[in-house]
Amino acid sequence: MKRNRLLGSIEAGGTKFNCAAGEDPFHMVAHRTFPTTTPVETLGKVIEFFHSVEEEYGKIEAFGICSFGPVDLRAGSPTYGCITSTPKAGWQQIPMVQSIEAEFRVPIGFDTDVNGAALGERRWGAGLGMDTVLYITVGTGIGGGAVVNGQPIHGLVHPEMGHLRIPHDLDRDPFPGSCPFHGDCLEGLASGTALRLRWGKPAQELEPEHPGWDLEAEYLALGLVNCILTLSPEVVILGGGVMKAAQLFQKVREKVRILLNHYMNTSRLEEEIESYIVPPTLGDLAGIAGGFELARRAISEGSHFNS
Ligand code: ZN
Repeated sequence: MKRNRLLGSIEAGGTKFNCAAGEDPFHMVAHRTFPTTTPVETLGKVIEFFHSVEEEYGKIEAFGICSFGPVDLRAGSPTYGCITSTPKAGWQQIPMVQSIEAEFRVPIGFDTDVNGAALGERRWGAGLGMDTVLYITVGTGIGGGAVVNGQPIHGLVHPEMGHLRIPHDLDRDPFPGSCPFHGDCLEGLASGTALRLRWGKPAQELEPEHPGWDLEAEYLALGLVNCILTLSPEVVILGGGVMKAAQLFQKVREKVRILLNHYMNTSRLEEEIESYIVPPTLGDLAGIAGGFELARRAISEGSHFNS
């Protein structure tokens, strides 16, 4: 019988690191979560975990790392594979790829957490069979990742769709916004942090009929419409803690339809919009799935391992 391929997947988040080993998100042999403390302690636990996996199951062939950021994705850059200017204390200029590569000496795929989730959903979830997939997470912050024509978008740095500028009517919503860089950007107005500060309680405690949900849906729809018009995604996947509010999806879909005003001339944005703006099929496994997909791609591309 063919032995399953053994890959390592790391979803590096600001509050926790999810680590898994296996062939794909449905065939995992080990899965562990560590709180994000200091880089030395956290990465030490990650490395120890994968060494223990190797002792039991044999050599890991490749790793995929999806990380909070900003990160350096530029091949050939001296700081490739690092978290760069994150506001998270102690995590600036931390070499994620190099730390794992030095221990395991195998190909390593690396991308943002949200590009990872987009890749994972495209391979195994809501973006299955599609070339262009948009993934937006609405949690403590807002992040956007996209796979366009089968490839995650990088470019100059990487997309930061959470910080789009959107209309803000200060008479209706005097909240100044919570983004430390821009105040009332999309994240500043519509993240879980913004909801908590504007309404004085966390999003999950806002009752379903609270007027804050209409405002939230409107801000998210404004951001989404800009992304839809720019990228022309075949599906829009909305993840993150705030999107777990059951009433929010329908409100966002309605407002996107109203804002686009039938311009795109496709049934996907009209009667099929319920299957166009959707939750992640993989749920909280989207990031881990992205790590597996990055590892698989690292093997086929033979990338990021030069020694
Ligand atoms: Zn911002």
